[in-house]
Amino acid sequence: MPKDNIDILIIGAGIVGVATAATLAESGHKVSVVDHQGICEGTSSGNAGALAFSDILPMASKGVLAKVPGWLMDPLGPFTIRPSYLPRLLPWLYRFWRASSAHMLERTVQAQGAMMRQAEPEMLGLMRRAGIGRMVREDGSLELYETESELNASLPGWSAKRAAGISFEHLRGNQLRECQPGLSSRFIAGTFVPGWKTVSDPKHVGQGLWAYAQNKGAVDLRDKVLSISATDEKVTVQLASGQTINAAKIVIAAGAWSHQLAKCLGDVIPLETERGYNTTLPVGAFDLKRQLIFSGHGFVVTPLETGIRVGGAVELGGLELPPNFKRSEIMLKKAEQFMPGLQSKGGRQWMGYRPSTPDSLPVIGFSSSTRNVLYAFGHGHLGLTQSAITARLISDLIENQEPSIPIDPYSPKRFRS
Ligand SMILES: Cc1cc2nc3c(=O)[nH]c(=O)nc-3n(C[C@H](O)[C@H](O)[C@H](O)COP(=O)(O)OP(=O)(O)OC[C@H]3O[C@@H](n4cnc5c(N)ncnc54)[C@H](O)[C@@H]3O)c2cc1C
Repeated sequence: MPKDNIDILIIGAGIVGVATAATLAESGHKVSVVDHQGICEGTSSGNAGALAFSDILPMASKGVLAKVPGWLMDPLGPFTIRPSYLPRLLPWLYRFWRASSAHMLERTVQAQGAMMRQAEPEMLGLMRRAGIGRMVREDGSLELYETESELNASLPGWSAKRAAGISFEHLRGNQLRECQPGLSSRFIAGTFVPGWKTVSDPKHVGQGLWAYAQNKGAVDLRDKVLSISATDEKVTVQLASGQTINAAKIVIAAGAWSHQLAKCLGDVIPLETERGYNTTLPVGAFDLKRQLIFSGHGFVVTPLETGIRVGGAVELGGLELPPNFKRSEIMLKKAEQFMPGLQSKGGRQWMGYRPSTPDSLPVIGFSSSTRNVLYAFGHGHLGLTQSAITARLISDLIENQEPSIPIDPYSPKRFRS
């Protein structure tokens, strides 16, 4: 027997699905969430915990592309492609390259900036209403450089951020050492971003938002969605358990797997995964004052209430290949050199799947076949940061309200040409 009478079904209980459930349940919608892993058990559980509201530069920005050839030479470098996956990746890489043109980059930075201006009040507001405002850390971030040329190469990016109203300060000497004592002397300069925030633990944030959603009536189902079909009246979802669900509307928030479901509705979305790795060391492994960003090496170190998390890196290798935890080890070894005295024993390794579009913008909007199916995925490196603003935009669309920012830049239709 099909399960009927579901108002809105959200597929995926990562941070985007959970924030969307909380926001819709707040406005009185009857919401169910379906996920075969449970609440925030996948990529949203183990990320670096940054609320990176100032991070408006796309991956395809010039600085990154210039570094890629050097990185690719190193199979354990910060940006790699698993060779066996390369043929499948080529169409996405072509779009990624096209997204790096000056014209496209300018549009992307504007769209990302517009989203980030709303992302901050939306996320902090949702966390406060959910009673988890104390999980936000407001101690900024420090990006570090080993050479003058590395600092100089970063300056155009900082100018773009200044133009978008983001404050920062370049530090040297004592100022740098005070901002983070105990760093290796190889770092000659750093940039402090005071408005950058982190959370005490991303998994706890997801669980906290879910507890709030549940309190407002949201329900979770543990199952895997196999297929979706839609008519003008309803959407039918086939589950691995053999059950069928009929819902008035569905939201696809299935992270890096979302394109597989969008295909059922006739939409071909170029979504890839940028796999990322980390190691979480025990609490007290280093006296870390704030998140440190080693962008020349593609990783960050974050102070969490559950430990010190060392990680990042981008590995383009799809959804099936097994993890290569040598990447976690390499970043940890570098962190030992960069932060002398780091207690690097007893860590827990992890890999997650960033859901990434070629232009680094998320996919938010209606499916091409029906307005009863909405998309909320593709946030790449920024899913935690942009979860609440995505939830707000989805809620605006469902309630037939003018979205709080123009949503054309995030439309699934942008990939048609
Ligand atoms: C190393 C690393 C560091 C990161 N650091 C940050 C950071 O500091 N700040 C930040 O903002 N972002 C960061 N990110 C990115 C962020 O983690 C992701 O963008 C975000 O978690 C994506 O959330 P999501 O809800 O879209 O997807 P997910 O968390 O992947 O959730 C999707 C869910 O959908 C479920 N699902 C998939 N298919 C189906 C199906 N067919 N049926 C049922 N359920 C299904 C999955 O089980 C999963 O639980 C980082 C990512 C990595 C890997």
